[in-house]
Amino acid sequence: MSSANSAPTAVLVINAGSSSLKYQLIDVWTGATLGSGLVEKIGEPTGRATHRVNDEKYVTDITCANHEAAFAVALGAFETHGPSLSDHPLLAVGHRVVHGGTRYSAPALITDELVAAVTELIPLAPLHNPPNLQGIAVARAAFPGVPQVAVFDTAFHQTMPPHAYTYAIPSAWREQHKVRRYGFHGTSHAYVSRKAAEFLGKAPQDVNVIVLHVGNGASASAVKAGVCIDTSMGMTPLEGLVMGTRPGDLDPGLAAYMASTGLSAQEYDRALNKESGLKALAGSNDYRDIENAIERGDQDARLALDVAAYRLRKYLGAYTFALGHVDAVVFTAGAGENDPILRERVISGLEAQGLILDLQANGVRSGEPRRISTPDSPVAVLVIPTEEELEIAKQAAAVVRGT
Ligand code: ADP
Repeated sequence: MSSANSAPTAVLVINAGSSSLKYQLIDVWTGATLGSGLVEKIGEPTGRATHRVNDEKYVTDITCANHEAAFAVALGAFETHGPSLSDHPLLAVGHRVVHGGTRYSAPALITDELVAAVTELIPLAPLHNPPNLQGIAVARAAFPGVPQVAVFDTAFHQTMPPHAYTYAIPSAWREQHKVRRYGFHGTSHAYVSRKAAEFLGKAPQDVNVIVLHVGNGASASAVKAGVCIDTSMGMTPLEGLVMGTRPGDLDPGLAAYMASTGLSAQEYDRALNKESGLKALAGSNDYRDIENAIERGDQDARLALDVAAYRLRKYLGAYTFALGHVDAVVFTAGAGENDPILRERVISGLEAQGLILDLQANGVRSGEPRRISTPDSPVAVLVIPTEEELEIAKQAAAVVRGT
C-alpha cells in the first residue's frame, strides 16, 4: 500500500480484445499481482466477469454492451472484492497494443498523437488494434490524471534486419501497403530471452537464445546477444508455427486457389484464424485433449501432434543456423511450460546437434524457470514461464519514470 510520503508503485495492466477485457493490478516494486480479472463476451447478451484476489476467485454473470461497460465492471470488482484502488494509487496504466508498425520499437506514453498513429495502423491489425484503442479510450477517461503507456507486441521484433523482415513481393505492396514481416508476442520473447540469460548467469548481450512460445497462439524467435534477429509470425500472426486455431506457414498460392472455389476474403481469413491449426486437424485446440485422444488411439490427434511438433523442430533448425551459435532453447507459454510430451517430441534425437534432454527433469511439473537438458548438454534447454503482464507493468513504469 502506498502512503502519503511514498510514491505509487501500482500499475494497472489492460489487455483489451474484441470481446474480452483482461486486467491485472501489479505492484512493480515487489512484482506481486494485487488483483486480476477477465470480462468476457462483451457485446453479447450474456457475459461473464471473473475477478481474482488473494487466491479467491469471484465469477459473476453480467451483460456488457461495450468496453466502457466492461471497464466499469472491472473497476467495480476492485471496490467489491478488493483491493480498493484508493489504497493503491496508480503509477501508470499499461496497455497491450498489438501493432505498432515500424514507428514504435519501444513502449511509449499514450498521447493523442500515439492514438492517431495506432488508429492509422488498423489496416495492418484489423482484429486487434480497434479493441486495444477502445481499452485506451476507456482507461484514459476513467483515470485522466494517470499516465498511460502503450506496450507493443511488435516492438521487440523491430530489430529484425531487412533480410529477415522483407517478403520478396512487388515493391508497390511493400511500399504503399507496408507489407513486411512484423512479428508478434514481442513482450513475451523479450522477457523470456532476458530471463534465459539471467538463468544462465550471463548478460543478455552474451547469449544467443531461441524462444519457442507455444500457447494457443505460437511463435518462435531467434535472439542474438539480446536482440531479435528473426521471428516466425509475419505480416499477421498467421505465419509460422502451427497454433491452436491457426495453420502457420502455408503456400501463398492457397489464397487464389480458395478464392477460385468461391470463398470470400473474409471467409478465408476467418477459417485461417479460427478454424485451422490443431482444431482443424484434431477437433480441439488444446494439447491436453490431443494427447488424451492419442492415448485412446485417435489417428487424427496423432497427426495433429506430429504436424505441430515437426513445424517447431523445423523452426528450431532454421534459427540454429540463423544464429550460428545457440546457448539456450527456451520453451514458454501454456503448452511450452506445461507439456513434457510436446517438448520431448521437439528435442529428442537432437543429441548430435548439442541438445540432450533430461527426460526426468522434463517430466517435472513446476511453475519456476528450470533446465530440462542434462548438465553436459552443449545447448541448455530451459522452461521459463512467461510473465507478459508483469513485463508490461514494468515497461510502463520505466516509461513513466523516464528510465
Ligand atoms: P494464449 O495464447 O491464449 O495466451 P496460453 O499461453 O494460456 O494461451 O496457452 C494455452 C494452451 O496451452 C492450451 O490451449 C493448451 O494447448 C496448452 N496447455 C495448457 N496447459 C497445458 C498442459 N498442462 N499440458 C499441455 N498443454 C497445455
